[in-house]
Formats: sequence, C-alpha cells, structure tokens
Amino acid sequence: MRTIYLDNAATTRVDTDVVKAMSPYFTNNYGNASEPHLWGINANEAIENARGTIARHLNAHPDEIVFTSCATESINLSHKGLIESFNFQPHIITTSIEHKAVIETVKHLKASVTYLSVDRDGLISTKDLMEAITPNTVLVSVMYANNEIGTIEPIKEIGDILRKHNENHPDNRIYFHTDATQAIQYLDCDVNYLGVDMLSFTGHKIHAPKGIGALYIRKETPLIRQQDGGGQEFGLRAGTENVPYIVALGKAVSMINKSKGDSITKLRNTLVEYVLDKVPDSRLTGHVGLRVPHIASFTFKNVRGEDVVVALSERGIASASGSACTSGSIESSHVMKAIGAPDDWSAGQLRLSLSKYTTKSDVSNAGKELVSVIEKLRTGMF
Ligand code: PLP
Repeated sequence: MRTIYLDNAATTRVDTDVVKAMSPYFTNNYGNASEPHLWGINANEAIENARGTIARHLNAHPDEIVFTSCATESINLSHKGLIESFNFQPHIITTSIEHKAVIETVKHLKASVTYLSVDRDGLISTKDLMEAITPNTVLVSVMYANNEIGTIEPIKEIGDILRKHNENHPDNRIYFHTDATQAIQYLDCDVNYLGVDMLSFTGHKIHAPKGIGALYIRKETPLIRQQDGGGQEFGLRAGTENVPYIVALGKAVSMINKSKGDSITKLRNTLVEYVLDKVPDSRLTGHVGLRVPHIASFTFKNVRGEDVVVALSERGIASASGSACTSGSIESSHVMKAIGAPDDWSAGQLRLSLSKYTTKSDVSNAGKELVSVIEKLRTGMF
C-alpha cells in the first residue's frame, strides 16, 4: 500500500543529510565534549559549530543557546527557572491555547496566572494582554503558532509592547517567552526583531531526530537551573551533551528554507479548498491567512475525528485529531473549546499537516480518501 504521511505537526521524517551529518559522532568522533583530549576537543567543536549555526539563525549570541532534550524541557527550564528566581509571588500571562508543555508547566509554578482568551480564529488580543499586566507580572508566554489549528500569534507586536513597557517601568521588567515549535521551520525567528527573551523549539518537527531541543535565553535573563550536576551548557543544563543529536539539530536548522513554505502553502490551500468543497458540513479551523504553511485543520459535523484518523490510517494515510474519546463521550481539545467550536463540530476535529516531502499527488489522493471516509462514516458503512 502506498502511504501518505500528513502528520508533520506531530513529528517529521529525519532528513538524510541530517543523518549523514550526525552519523560520524556515534562511531568515530564519540568523545565526551568535557574532556581535554583530541576526542573531547572534536566533540566540543561539533557542539559549538551547531550552537553557532542556531545562534545565527535566531540572530542571537552562541552563549544564549542551551541544548535540551525537547521543547517540553526548554519550556520547563525557561518557565520554572525564571519564576524560581523571584522572591515574591509573581504573575504570568499566557494563553488558553498553549501546548500542554506550557499549560501543565505553568500549573505547577508558585505564581498567579492569567490565561488570555482567543477569538474564533485562535488569535489573542494585544489589548487584553496589556490590560492583564500587573506590577507583579514577570513573564508573558505566548506560542508563535498553534499546533492544532496553525494560527500565528502577533509575537512581534507583543514584543514591541513589552519593550515599551520595560523602558517605561524598569522596576517591573517583564520577560517574554515564545514556544516556536511549530513556527521555526517557516517563520522569522530573529529574536531581536521579535523582541523575545526566551524561545523554545524541538528538533523532531524540523527533520532532526526526537530527543533534542534548544532554548534561546537572552543575556541577563535570570534563570535558575532545573537539573543539577556538572557545569555543561553554561551551568544551565547538567549532563553529558548528546553530541550526535546536537550536530543533527544544527544541520536541520541550517537547512531551514523559508521559501519552501510558499510551495507547501499552495499544496495546503489546494487540499483545504478541495475538502471544504467536497465534504458537506465541513469547516476550516484557525485563521485563514495568519497560519503556518504546513497545517490544514478542520471540523466535520456528525463524525468523530478519532474514527476518521483510524479509517484514514487503514488506507495508508497519517492524520491527527485533538479530540479524544473518553468513557464513551468525546472530549474536545482545549483549543477547540477556546475557539468556541460547538461540541457537535469539535468532536469531528481533524488535522492534516504537510512537509517539504509532501507531493501534489499525496494531497489529491488524501483529499479523495478523506471525502470517501467521511461519507462512509456518516452513513454507517464502516
Ligand atoms: N509546543 C508545541 C507547539 C508543540 O507542537 C509541541 C509538540 O507537539 C511541543 C511544544 C512539545 O514538543 P516536544 O514533545 O518535542 O517536547
């Protein structure tokens, strides 16, 4: 069976050039980067090359980049590390549509939290954000692009607002974190242009392996390390560095080609138009224009997203649904709830996510199969 992989927002295929770049660090250059001998020096050089590549991509300084195991770890380190550094009860502003990596981390902090609501397209209001600021606000954490619906949040606008705030209130410095996991492959992540102090991302969404991520931390951001041990990663993340995976992340970042986003956007639009045209009672979720190229997301009335995922999988197609069946009833995702999708629609949530490997025929075949699957599910033919 010919397979079609349309779950690239969950994870991506590792690029063969990335595999090629990392391979020698398993069997030839396998030194511990902390050691002063030739093997260690080679390993250290490889790490610093990767750090330099990532720093250039983000317009940051190399010693502002810390390697972690994934975006979740980067988010834990940035949020817990920052909040722990204050000796009063701080206040955080975040959004109701963040990934669980932020939502669950924030829940465990000794801080009060404001969750900004979003409109039907998944956009926050910067006016709401400004109104939420208190004298105890120390952190604003807003995702760059949402993983379920693809909506791009106004990160630069927020950065400008907070820069101005910090100039006018030097005693009430607010730090700005963005989760760029779904954005870094396609959007401008220049940290100075955006005005962010911390930025998290993960390798496996950008054609590097699972198990490697990074955190950008602007100099002079107070941060207490969350993993004690050796002095690796500027003392912020103890533990022997994962050299092959760090090399892989550097290679994957060096291969980011934003112009690829245009062709992926075209394919995605073809898919969206086809599905909305051919499937009765179908809706696009997320913003029409302000969305990352790779994510097409829908809700379908009178069908369960989970059933669609299983039926498509039986036809060799990978897709995703944020809604889950718990104890016989459908639990809508927190994102569907936040955008106000009615229950009879949000149960039928489906995400199809593309990559540089997705072809025209993948999109047209997947579209046709999706139409047939939904028709059959609705008429009870499965
Ligand atoms: N943030 C967003 C927006 C994501 O899409 C994901 C993964 O789905 C994560 C964070 C967590 O990434 P990881 O599982 O690599 O830690």
